[in-house]
Amino acid sequence: MTYQHCYDRSIADPAAFWADQARDLAWFRQPTQTLSEGPDGTHQWFADGCLNTCYLALDHQIEQGRGEQIALIYDSPVTATQQTFTYNQLRDEVARLAGLLRELGVKQGDGVIIYMPMVPQAAMAMLACARIGAVHSVVFGGFAANELALRIDDARPALVLTASCGLEFDRVIAYKPLVDRALQLAQHQPRKVLVLQRPQARAELLEGRDLDWHSALAGAQPVAPVELAAADPLYIMYTSGTTGKPKGIVRENGGNAVALRFTLRHIYGMQAGDVWWGISDVGWVVGHSLIVYGPLMNGCTTVFYEGKPIRTPDAGAYWRVVEQYKVNGLFCAPTAMRAIRKEDPEGQLLRQYDLSSLRQLFLAGEKLDSSTHHWLETASGKAVHDHWWQTETGWPVTAPCVGLEGSGVRPGSSNRAVPGYHVQVVDDDGHLLGPNQQGSIVIALPLPPGCSQTLWGDHPRYLQAYLRTYPGYYHTGDGGYLDDDGFVYIMGRTDDVINVSGHRLSTGEMEDLVACHPAVAECAVVGVHDEIKGQVPLALVVLKDGESIAEHALQSELVARVREQIGALACFNQVRLVKRLPKTRSGKILRAVLRKIADHQPYTAPSTLDDPAVLLEIENVLASLARAG
Ligand code: AMP
Repeated sequence: MTYQHCYDRSIADPAAFWADQARDLAWFRQPTQTLSEGPDGTHQWFADGCLNTCYLALDHQIEQGRGEQIALIYDSPVTATQQTFTYNQLRDEVARLAGLLRELGVKQGDGVIIYMPMVPQAAMAMLACARIGAVHSVVFGGFAANELALRIDDARPALVLTASCGLEFDRVIAYKPLVDRALQLAQHQPRKVLVLQRPQARAELLEGRDLDWHSALAGAQPVAPVELAAADPLYIMYTSGTTGKPKGIVRENGGNAVALRFTLRHIYGMQAGDVWWGISDVGWVVGHSLIVYGPLMNGCTTVFYEGKPIRTPDAGAYWRVVEQYKVNGLFCAPTAMRAIRKEDPEGQLLRQYDLSSLRQLFLAGEKLDSSTHHWLETASGKAVHDHWWQTETGWPVTAPCVGLEGSGVRPGSSNRAVPGYHVQVVDDDGHLLGPNQQGSIVIALPLPPGCSQTLWGDHPRYLQAYLRTYPGYYHTGDGGYLDDDGFVYIMGRTDDVINVSGHRLSTGEMEDLVACHPAVAECAVVGVHDEIKGQVPLALVVLKDGESIAEHALQSELVARVREQIGALACFNQVRLVKRLPKTRSGKILRAVLRKIADHQPYTAPSTLDDPAVLLEIENVLASLARAG
């Protein structure tokens, strides 16, 4: 199958294309209707199909003869644990846990909050919910109590599943007090809280409400997967919106199963029996699509890693895992690779490991700057691919499809649209723009299967946030352009575009140039207010370990570089060294906060910030800038 053939067909006749993709899925009832449109512009895929995601991920794989294949490898350097589960073992664990959930009164359609670290029981909990048609919402273990409370009030769970603690490098983080606090703050109360006790910190159980995971499970009876409609929700994944209330992205069972089958096979080139490593956390969309559901529904072995890129024990940790489990393909975020590079710039640790099993590396979550891209490709000797997607889509929008012939790769871009996604660029008035013209990136409707079609309990907000800005299109919120050959260049969120003397400029483009400097580990470019020009860019730079270049020397080199590459119109004149950049726990630089600080506007430190102290340093740097100005 060629990429071009697939792509053209998926756009010309989406229903026929996806009906073909759906045909060999092990449905309980094959859909006869592939695509229907609602009056509000949303779409329904496979309306009359029936299936069960947990069945597809476990029971069906066993029926295909994979019962004794390893389904999940738990590798936890933070607890010195390595454990494997075959498909048979995982199915048995999940079926019993599903039985327990049902005994505890969880019914089909009920919400279940999972607030757990990267322990295999978190994956089991997700699959157990899927087995009985409960709708799980995994909340990233690092979220504070008030964020958890917001999600509890929105998802209204019948049950909360948690663990006594999570582990960070050498630090133990007690989870249970956070759950207790969240339940004090929340209006909604779950019937029970199921607590997995970990030996590193045992939790106090509240009589009558809290249950010990293992004792409760001891008497539970296994249950079979239930038959669900394609449109029945599989999970809710909360993501930040423009207001304080998180958006509950809803993923449907049917579309998700078809999309992830396509994703693993044709984008990542994975076959049943391959070892796949989605390096993320179950608390993010990658954890759903690429740690749990995608690899298991495709008969792969999934690596489930409770560790970090560095300090567990060193920057060779990822390569150790690749060698040990003969990983064939992996996904990771650029921020992790930058952390590894900072500590192992010459790739000395990397070279100690045998990476021969690894076919390629896929990176996403933020722009893959060309400097990190080049370093990783050179150090690993492997193909490194940038690709772009969002929580809302659940699977890649642009990517090289390594499982399809002739999909092509263009370093520097996040590659071409994946079959199913008609990616286009519009100006502020919604007019289509041509190649190489920068604007808002949109996807012509219908969105392919798997993309969210609603927000939990707030359909009007979905329509407003995604479909109303540019009628007929899904609004991605990202800016960028397509080149003459359809390769997509994501330049950052549309609000990261700065306007210098009337010129629209991408901070992402400047960041790329700054990051290529050999002394630079990481950087963020923000627009700061300028009396004459409106905005001018400022680069905040973190140096690599051991680098001692003076700020003014770095500044003159970078100014020359940006002037040469973008031009004097960028007015790029200011570079400041900082020790760290403010980031979310998932590693995204908090640009909106940086922008507010730069503009001397009031801001509230988001609860997703990993270390609030880091903002003080930035404030001081910007204050000194203002004084100097
Ligand atoms: P999330 O839903 O948290 O995964 O964030 C999705 C957003 O991350 C996108 O809308 C982009 O702004 C950004 N993003 C993800 N992947 C890339 C990429 N490969 N290049 C640039 N930005 C990306």
